Amino acid sequence: MKKSITGGWHWPAKMFCYKKPIENSDRPDFLTIPLWRGGKASVFPGDWVHAYDAIGYDSKGLPVYAPLAGQVERVEDFPDLVARPRNFDFPRLTIYLQVSQAQHQPSVVLEAFPRFWERTRGDLGHRIWEAGIRDLQEPPDAELLIFNGLNLEPPVSGSIRLLRETPESLIEGMRIMMQVHRSVRGRVVISSDMPDLIERMRALLTSAVNISVDIMDPKYPQGHDSLLKDNFPGSQSSRVYGLEEVWNIRQAVIEGLPMVSKLCTVWDQTSGQSANIRLPLGINMEQIFKRDLSRYRKIKLILGGLMTGQSYYSPKMPVTPDTDGVIMMKDDVSWENNLCSNCGECANICPRNLSPHCLYAAVGSGEIKKYSALGLGKCLECGLCSFVCPSRIHLLHQIKVGKTMMKGG
Ligand code: SF4
Ligand code: SF4
Repeated sequence: MKKSITGGWHWPAKMFCYKKPIENSDRPDFLTIPLWRGGKASVFPGDWVHAYDAIGYDSKGLPVYAPLAGQVERVEDFPDLVARPRNFDFPRLTIYLQVSQAQHQPSVVLEAFPRFWERTRGDLGHRIWEAGIRDLQEPPDAELLIFNGLNLEPPVSGSIRLLRETPESLIEGMRIMMQVHRSVRGRVVISSDMPDLIERMRALLTSAVNISVDIMDPKYPQGHDSLLKDNFPGSQSSRVYGLEEVWNIRQAVIEGLPMVSKLCTVWDQTSGQSANIRLPLGINMEQIFKRDLSRYRKIKLILGGLMTGQSYYSPKMPVTPDTDGVIMMKDDVSWENNLCSNCGECANICPRNLSPHCLYAAVGSGEIKKYSALGLGKCLECGLCSFVCPSRIHLLHQIKVGKTMMKGG
């Protein structure tokens, strides 16, 4: 029986890019690799690096690797490209890498653990950290692991493509994660409009007594971590993993490969083209769309999905491990003149019973105490408020800015 949430939204299947196989990206000329606030570079301007060389650490201490060989041009703060209230600065140390056009074999590959089940959970957790994916060096126990195979936000279709193209690898990755977290149960959630994937995964999992498939109604935002966990009441502890992360973990443990790429759905609404592409981390939007976007005035560039993605005014924003969609849309609406009419639509649809229009105003005035009291921290960032707003106000964008300000930038 399929599980469902109350409320939510059914997107038409044509909004997604399910049918396009995963392609590899063309080689870019340069990469822009942010280490974020507090990150540290281990290279200097002028250094030559091989693909898979460690070039720094991000703000959480995770190693960051060069996706391709090249020469470090600069190491400096990335300009602030996100519109936000004044006096809030977001320095992000960034490595600018000129990519070499010569083909190099990677010089450093981590030791492969093809017989991962013979390793301790500490070994596996350390390897996942070493590969730059997540800090699991002291992995917590989790009775249940939920593997999120839902693609519910257009045009993002990566999970469906991974399920279709590499199900065996995903199952290996799931087993690794269950060993790491000492989990007794694993659940793969797949949406009910993908019956062939459900059947195939069930057939592949017949010998895995502790991993099973759960079917969900394809309603947005059902795939949100906290809503997914609500479907499994009674679990003492649970964690949700996306399938791209499971795939990366499998690559790191079994093949010894660090994380250097991200599977993204790229959608150019101006030409009607879309694709699922494995992109090197650090490639920017201008390189992905292969156009000089500075000449285009009436377009909107988004990193992420249509609902939860972040809009940027610069095509220089790079793909990071959090990016799952890259979108270029027509934008012929004048946002500045669109004022809130207090219609209440945004509050009516909010699955967390918040008042997004009040949050918008409070963040705009920089009143951190006020918007924390209004419950900004409870927002799922599902974007339904922005979606229904008749005045097309950037509610979610403002809420995200407020959350970043609450964390102190
Ligand atoms: S306020 Fe947050 S949870 Fe509520 S609709 Fe907007 S984005 Fe979703
Ligand atoms: S939906 Fe838009 S116009 Fe209506 S109350 Fe919310 S912000 Fe204001």
